[in-house]
Amino acid sequence: MEETKELGNQKAVEYDLSIVYDYRTHPDKISGRCDHCNHALFDSSVKKYEYIRKCRNCGMMKSI
Ligand SMILES: [Zn+2]
Repeated sequence: MEETKELGNQKAVEYDLSIVYDYRTHPDKISGRCDHCNHALFDSSVKKYEYIRKCRNCGMMKSI
């Protein structure tokens, strides 16, 4: 589940849209905006007592 890429390369962070990120380990770079595409509209749902926020543009998910 965890990405263990080597540090030190200059590539931009790529997000895996098939997994749900945890807000505690991946806080918003800009509050209320998608880290992946910078979109500000989200769909939200509750799964297993966790609030899941899904970007309406790219589909990146984060549990808050
Ligand atoms: Zn997005």
